[in-house]
Amino acid sequence: MFNPEMEAMPREQLRQLQFERLKKTVEGVYNNVPFYTEKLREKGIEPGDIKSLDDLKLLPFTVKQDLRDNYPFGLFAIPMDDVVRVHASSGTTGKPTVVGYTQNDIDGWAELIARCVAMAGGGKGDVVQVAYGYGLFTGGLGLHYGAERLGATVIPISGGNTKRQLMLMQDFGTSILCCTPSYALFLAEEARENGIDLVNSKLKAGIFGAEPWSENMRKELEKGLGIKALNIYGLSEIMGPGVSMECECQCGMHIMEDYFIPEIIDPETGEPLPYGSKGELVFTTISKEAFPLLRYRTRDISVLREEKCECGRTFVRMERVMGRTDDMLIIRGVNVFPSQIESVLLDIGDTEPHYLLVVDRQGSLDNLEVWVEVSEKMFSDEIRKLEELEKKLRHEIASILGISARIKLVEPKTIPRSEGKAKRVVDKREL
Ligand code: ADP
Ligand code: ZN
Repeated sequence: MFNPEMEAMPREQLRQLQFERLKKTVEGVYNNVPFYTEKLREKGIEPGDIKSLDDLKLLPFTVKQDLRDNYPFGLFAIPMDDVVRVHASSGTTGKPTVVGYTQNDIDGWAELIARCVAMAGGGKGDVVQVAYGYGLFTGGLGLHYGAERLGATVIPISGGNTKRQLMLMQDFGTSILCCTPSYALFLAEEARENGIDLVNSKLKAGIFGAEPWSENMRKELEKGLGIKALNIYGLSEIMGPGVSMECECQCGMHIMEDYFIPEIIDPETGEPLPYGSKGELVFTTISKEAFPLLRYRTRDISVLREEKCECGRTFVRMERVMGRTDDMLIIRGVNVFPSQIESVLLDIGDTEPHYLLVVDRQGSLDNLEVWVEVSEKMFSDEIRKLEELEKKLRHEIASILGISARIKLVEPKTIPRSEGKAKRVVDKREL
């Protein structure tokens, strides 16, 4: 364990620590974030009303729309002078969700990731290949600083360029691979096709996350790469990767409870549910300075487990994410909301507001196809005009989503209409 004092703290003591940190967080946001001052007043709550950990349920929820309404820095709890880094993830429409970190936040995040890499059996002497994307996305830099904190050697290769990934993996003796599970599958396939034996290489563990995957994929990855494949979970709003991570027991992801208080709620009513129930995951950050959030609704569906873990850690575990309460898709590790595509179509015009996203996985690579109905008039026009439209759509969608899509222009009334909620997505991937 990287930090046994925290990770194996007796639960009574941990609850006391959480309570103290929660109190401080509520005071902090009440005094420094106008959004929360107002929200708490609306509910008639003063920081002094938080008298035990159970009072958490008195606090208001925060949702993604609140982040959008306060774009870009409106929810920051400290002056911009003290913000040393920002990250962003895609929002439901044009504007991204922006999050900020103080130096202490960055250090804390590195500590949590160091714990995660240690859970994968990492330490000094390990070579950690970080093949998550670097940049605004939290994956690359998040893993990077944590692996360094642990004293491992980091290869900051970022995503893509598969040939080079495989070459460095062999030449540098990579022992831990960090990337999305689908990219790991792709690496395994490419290695096999190029006669590269990763099973007997130094590679021993994979830290895979940022998108949903299954036990079947785990088996395939463990066999194909000759490793132990572990699940890591996080979201930029709460911090980034490292909110939770699986230990060697592979029985759910330990939530870093000295930083985050998890809850499961009924997504319909907002009522907290007991451990063991399936519902929406909610997190309250209790150790963050720049961007603290009260009861953030993740829209991820999971189950919390408090049964003792054999590894000795006392943090509760969450089961793998079983779905979402909204229509967010994760395609090649990138969050995609159908509404983003809708707004592109509306901006460009010349199309009907009827579209369908068809997602498929060929081999281990996700493919996105966007079917768009073209107006009657447009369809009877010259072919050149249609080609131009297709090109424009492809370009716009790529620049907004950050991933490429195939565009299929179809005649009016081709896409099936539904009564009630429109079906915008056909996801053919079998994980
Ligand atoms: P990240 O940088 O971790 O991808 P984002 O904020 O872009 O952060 O996306 C967060 C979302 O990604 C989560 O709310 C969840 O839906 C999904 N996600 C992250 N890790 C996992 C995982 N291990 N399993 C399933 N879904 C995950
Ligand atoms: Zn454990």
